[in-house]
Amino acid sequence: MVNCHILLVSFPGQGHINPSLQFAKRLLQIGAKVTFSTSLSAISRMSEAASTIPGLTLAPFSDGYDNGWTSADDVRDFMSSFRNCGSEAVKNLLLAKENEGHPFTHMVYSTLVTWAGEVANELQIPSTLLWNQPATVFYAYYLYFCKNEIFTGENSEVVELPGLPLVLSSSDLPSFMQSSSPVIYNFSLPIYKEHFEILDGAGTRQKVLVNTFDALEFETLRAFNKYDLMGIGPLIPSAFLDGKDPLDTSFGGDLIQKTVDYIDWLNSKDELSVIYVSFGSFSNLSKQQMEEIAKGLIKSQKPFLWVIRDRKSGTEGEEDNTLSLMKEVEKQGMIVPWCSQLEVLSHPSVGCFLTHSGWNSCIESLSSGVPMVAFPQWADQPMNSKLVKDYWKTGLRAAAATDGGILMADEIARCLEIAMGGGERGEDMRKQAQKWKILAKEAVKEGGSSNVNLKAFTDQIVGLNQSLSS
Ligand code: UDP
Repeated sequence: MVNCHILLVSFPGQGHINPSLQFAKRLLQIGAKVTFSTSLSAISRMSEAASTIPGLTLAPFSDGYDNGWTSADDVRDFMSSFRNCGSEAVKNLLLAKENEGHPFTHMVYSTLVTWAGEVANELQIPSTLLWNQPATVFYAYYLYFCKNEIFTGENSEVVELPGLPLVLSSSDLPSFMQSSSPVIYNFSLPIYKEHFEILDGAGTRQKVLVNTFDALEFETLRAFNKYDLMGIGPLIPSAFLDGKDPLDTSFGGDLIQKTVDYIDWLNSKDELSVIYVSFGSFSNLSKQQMEEIAKGLIKSQKPFLWVIRDRKSGTEGEEDNTLSLMKEVEKQGMIVPWCSQLEVLSHPSVGCFLTHSGWNSCIESLSSGVPMVAFPQWADQPMNSKLVKDYWKTGLRAAAATDGGILMADEIARCLEIAMGGGERGEDMRKQAQKWKILAKEAVKEGGSSNVNLKAFTDQIVGLNQSLSS
């Protein structure tokens, strides 16, 4: 066991918990002691419970929403309670360990948990940000806040990121930078800005760990040198990546139970014939949008596996999941409330992923060699889908109608036909997807870029700890 105890503080969303737990497993493998801290509500919902990860200690804290946050709650109230309760709890935990004579030697905190970095700076504990979006999105935020080099305004405006061969329009930027972003989500922008203030307040040149790999974002990683951006991904279970640990078949922190078996159904389908449809763990699409998706999928005439999460009934503003074309939907496809996404993406029958393009979904799809049809909703998703389409060339972005932003059935069917069909564009996307699948595996194997970066990070924190204690 190496002499280092890391406190890993994660935002309680699925898209943060998954890469954080996978990162924790990598640290445990090198012999570090790891304590994983997030909201009590999330830890108590984890179906497999991260407690099944050997050696991992859990440190839940109350964020004031112990029964979970629902979309009926004001997100700004939640964020402020999460910050206040979380920083007090994490500070107490750090001080208690210090008093016991077993101090934490390093803290790693995920995106949006800026207050943890603040506590670490205050107590002079070295800390590192684990960024769970692409490095290119981090770069875009940096240019926006620190360099004033990103324009916002009309969608037609051209945006260039220095050093990158990509031309973007402002609608490709993270939604919070767009003037059309709903006011309710404006709370996020100051938090992203705070990330840079905290990195700058740490006193030394900071490393930022990113769930990406060098080959995937080579140009961004080269262009950006204010901090050491280190690609340590893909942070996905070994069984779906390098196969070094065939027993590592899940992240270990699902917040929703898998209640329906879909593997027999997938097994019964032809190779590359199935469309996998999921919009992540957070987005709630309108009833009208769900109906259009149903029509588009039926129009595609392909089998599909569609994740429709259960919505809490009786909550104001939430709509039910009943579709008017339910009979046709169930004849052609299968609806599940949750699945192991990696199990699905790595199944030979799956030929394409209709996705909201959350970053975990994108990097899981790239690592599984599955082309994407992207329908981004908010946050980093517009930029992720731009990268998927024009940089990695493994997918396309479906265009929503301008009136109300509804993506119509015909457009869905058109995109699915391109992605699944035998035409040149579909063939190209499949070839590119296979290329990224191979490169993702190479990045994490012994001597691969992510493997080397992770070692450099751990060597540094272990070395730092030894020099502090000698
Ligand atoms: N996921 C899953 N089963 C599902 C839907 C999603 O395991 O039915 C996982 C998926 O593998 C990913 C995470 O949930 O790791 C979603 O993260 P992402 O960044 O794609 O989207 P978010 O939920 O944060 O919007």
